[in-house]
Parts: sequence; C-alpha cells; structure tokens
Amino acid sequence: MHPDTSRGIEVLHNPIYNKGTGFSASERERLGIRGLVPPRFFTIGQQAVKIWAQNKALKRPLDRWSHLQDLKDRNETLFYRLVHDHIEELAPVIYTPTVGDACLEYSKLLRRARGMYFSREDRGDFNSMMFNWKRNVSVIVVTDGSRILGLGDLGMNGMGISQGKLDLYVAGGGFDPQHVLPVVLDVGTNNPDLLNDPYYLGSPHKRLEGEEYYAFVEEFIRGVRNRWPNALIQFEDFQTKHANKILQHYRDEVLCFNDDIQGTAAVVLAGVYGAMKCLHGHRKDIVKQTFVMCGAGSAGCGIASFLHQAMVANGLTAEEAYKRFYIIDANGLVTAERALDDPGQEPLKGFARNRNDMPEGASLMDVIKKAKPTVLLGVSTVKGLFSKEVLEEMGKINERPIIMPLSNPTSRAECTAEDAANATDGRAIFSSGSPFSDVEINGRVMKANQGNNFYVFPGLGLGALLSKSSVISDAMLQAAAMAIPAMLTPEQYTEGTIFPRIDRIRDISAYVAIKVIEAAAREGRVPEDIRHIVAQGEEAMSEYVYSTMYVPNYRPTVFSCSSRK
Ligand code: NAD
Repeated sequence: MHPDTSRGIEVLHNPIYNKGTGFSASERERLGIRGLVPPRFFTIGQQAVKIWAQNKALKRPLDRWSHLQDLKDRNETLFYRLVHDHIEELAPVIYTPTVGDACLEYSKLLRRARGMYFSREDRGDFNSMMFNWKRNVSVIVVTDGSRILGLGDLGMNGMGISQGKLDLYVAGGGFDPQHVLPVVLDVGTNNPDLLNDPYYLGSPHKRLEGEEYYAFVEEFIRGVRNRWPNALIQFEDFQTKHANKILQHYRDEVLCFNDDIQGTAAVVLAGVYGAMKCLHGHRKDIVKQTFVMCGAGSAGCGIASFLHQAMVANGLTAEEAYKRFYIIDANGLVTAERALDDPGQEPLKGFARNRNDMPEGASLMDVIKKAKPTVLLGVSTVKGLFSKEVLEEMGKINERPIIMPLSNPTSRAECTAEDAANATDGRAIFSSGSPFSDVEINGRVMKANQGNNFYVFPGLGLGALLSKSSVISDAMLQAAAMAIPAMLTPEQYTEGTIFPRIDRIRDISAYVAIKVIEAAAREGRVPEDIRHIVAQGEEAMSEYVYSTMYVPNYRPTVFSCSSRK
C-alpha cells in the first residue's frame, strides 16, 4: 500500500504505517487524516512510556501478552519499540514461558491472522500459496506444532511460537519486521483435546506420519526455495523423532538450523565457556571437564554432539572426547548394550559407554560417584532429578561444581537455584533453562544464570544471512558459542555470572554475527564483497552489521511506505 495512492484512513488502520498520535501536523494534513486522530501529538518515546505503564499494571502474564498483541495489531513500530526498550522484562512475556499459555489458548485468542498456515488440505499448492505473501522474506521460523515447549502436541496453535520467536529476532537481532515470516505446518494433531474442540482453528485430523509427513515438509522447503531462495529457515519445536532427521536432510543444502538442537547446544557450550572464565581458566580448559548428562532427547543429543565437537576442536581426539561423557536417560546410563535404533538417537551412538566401564542402566548417583563429573547437565524434563544427595555429591567432588538444570518450564527443572546453592554452600556455578533468582547463602551470592537460546539465535541468524553463506556450518555455530562469553566483563565472571546481561542483546547479537561471518569466511563460504569487509577487520564488520539493524522509530510516512516492499 502506498499513501500517495490510497486514502489516509487506510494508513491509520494499517499497523505497519500507523503512528496513532505520532503523526505530525503536516503528515495529518497530507494524508487527509486531520481530525481523525486526537489533536495532541506524541513522540514514539512518549507513547512508549504510556503504553509501558499500562502493560506493567496488568497482573497476569497472559493479559500482558494479549495487550502487546493488540498493540502489534494496531501499531507495529510502537510494539517493537516497547520490546526493544524493555527486552529483559518483555522477553518472558512475548516468548517463553508466557507464550506457552498463549499457545494453549491460541485458537481462542487469535484476533488477526499473522504469518502463513500450510495445511494438509493445501498439499500440492504450497508453491503458489507462497506468492500470496507479498513481501520479501529474509527469515522464516517454522513449527509443526508437535512439541511446543514442554507442552506437547498443540497442532496449529504452535503458530504462537513462530510469531513470538520472530519478535525476538526483531528485538534482539535487528531484523526488519517486514521481512520475517512465521509459519505453521498444520499436518494435523494427535491431541484429543484439540481434535474434540469445535473451535480449534487447525486441521482437525490426526497427524500425517511417515512418507506423507516428509513429503509435506519437502513441499514446504521447495516452495520457500523457489519464492525466497536466500531466506533463512529456522525449525522450531519439532518432535524429536522428526527434528534431527529433517535437520540432517536439509542442513547441507539449505540455509537453515534447528534452534532446539543447535541453538540449545550453542548456548550450553557458551555457558560452559563462561564457566571456564569464572574458574579463571581459559576456554581450552573444556578438555579437562567430565560431563554427566541426564536426558537423551533432541536437546540432549544436540548438546552432547556439540560439546564433543568443541573438545575435539580444542585438542582431544574424538575417542578421548567421547570418554568425557556419561549419558543417562529414563532407563539409566546409556551403554553399548543399547540398540539406540530410534532415528533421533543416532548421534548418541559414540557416547554409549563400554559396559565394562559401568553397568547398563546405572543410576545417576552411581554414575556420579564413579565418573566424578565436573559438569552436571539436565535435559530430562524430570523435576527434582538433581536431588539434594546428587548435588551434595557434586559439591564434594568439585570446589566449584557446574550445575545446569536446563529443562523447561520451571516446574520441570531438575533442581532449583536454591537447591543447588543449599547443597553446595553457594559454590556451584549454576545455569538453568528457566529463570531463577540469585541465592544468598552464608554471605555468599550464587548467581542464577539462565542459558537462554536468545543469546544465540538472533546473532547466528543475522550472521548467517549477512555472510551470504548457503548453509550454517558447525564452525559457524561454534563461533557463535565462543562469541557470547567474550561479552562478559571481568566483574561478571568473578562473581559467577556466565552469560552477559540480556539487555545488551543487540550488541551481543551483533558480536555473534561478526564471529559467525568470520567463521564462514574462513571456510570459504562467503562471496567476494563479504570477504572484502572481513579483510578490513572488526571495525568494518561492526559497521556493516549495525548498519543493517532495524531500529523501531517512526519514519516520515511517504518515504517509509514507498521504501518498503
Ligand atoms: P525429550 O522429551 O525429547 O527428551 C527427554 C529425555 O529425558 C529422554 O531421553 C528421556 O529418556 C530422558 N529422561 C526421562 N526421564 C529421565 C530420568 N529420570 N533420568 C534421565 N533422563 C530421563 O525432550 P527434549 O526435546 O530433549 O527437551 C528436554 C528439555 O530440554 C525440555 O524441558 C526442554 O524445555 C529443555 N530445553 C532447554 C533449552 C534451553 O535451556 N536452552 C532448549 C531446548 C530444550
């Protein structure tokens, strides 16, 4: 839409161009909307202060989420301004944990459709449907709704996740909101509550499985490649049995990544590197660590493989690095006695312990006593799995045990920050998936770090796109993980903080992007123009990256409308 050729009232009702009371007197005159908005003029800063006060006054997080969605439906620029200005406080409202509640209610809460919905009924037409989306797209977040956060199969309602995640791409990575596309692959749902809900908005059929399912995904990927060949595709919340298979199938051909697998792995590695800093060591000290990991699902498999890769990159042989891991799932210690024939478990094979080391299925406590780990990781979704005894044992073995209960939501965390602090007298280096508060014990403060994927995905996505690489390689992911602890100040790591403050997310993302581009360049994945910028050094890179970042300010209406596609 172009205001020169359309009526001003349409500008007022279009969330992309609307400024509400932010239209200047001359704009009101020119657009013919004088008298159609209240007379007083407010800057975007003033508007943001007012709406922030309203949002903060709401008690229930879901009400805050709805309030923000309403704002986004009226005035996108102001919405992104608010999220940009208050990212630390609003990230948990627009994304996890609140977005989980929003997804549960999504079919009821939906006011205005956003993004694209590809349903089983649309099969065969995806290619042409892509052209119904009129704008250019640089990044797509896509889910099939099969494993939304810790909430399971939410079918089409998973759309809330794709939307929330892209809001974080905009706020944290400076992506232009006009060029992001949330997508849900509505392959059906096996959730009986949804199938029986007359108001469920998705396809009310059982999920497609097997070849039909993969053909559906393939049709979607081909459609995207045809319509937006350079777009980044981020897979989100696919169930384990499909997630790794899809990633492995496409990652060497398409610019894509899976945040649950690769983003999580990168943020955990960033946390381990951060912990190495706390111990006044160097990143390379990762080779001295021994890991016990509880949980061998998509998150666990991705983390183990990625940490292993980092150990090899820092000097161990593959075999030596495998020996540093003990993986435990619902059936206890994983040994070579297991078949591990579930397709999602393929990456685990190297980690299976020799059964002469320890018996198949050994308990967590037995493993800890024998292995004497320095790092305990939880991706099991089992609340309280890191019992007092387990944590005390970790505290006995290590002066500063590294404890990472990563399962979400909070109600599923393997332990709380308080549990870890109490059992180790506050000596633990602690990082969780869900937020906890710092704990003070005997005059010592144990920092409750949160290993949020938000540290990784906007910068990784930005770097991948700006590098013009055709894929996201392991080296690019490793570079993203290394970049994050580099943003820590000495005061922070001295006090046990292993991740930088989230309110610096724009700078963190820019730095991650720079390191990702450099890694891509080292591997010969970038074209001449990017190689030229890389060769000029970090300042030129920084200028390049920041210059692409969207800043949520009003632009003069005529120019902003005509410059947007
Ligand atoms: P999943 O359901 O695929 O896997 C869970 C695994 O835990 C399975 O291997 C299961 O056998 C194992 N398990 C169950 N009971 C156990 C027990 N008593 N002891 C040891 N292992 C046990 O789940 P997933 O997709 O791998 O995700 C796991 C958790 O990780 C989720 O809570 C998710 O929210 C969290 N996660 C965190 C982050 C993050 O912090 N950045 C990112 C992604 C996922």
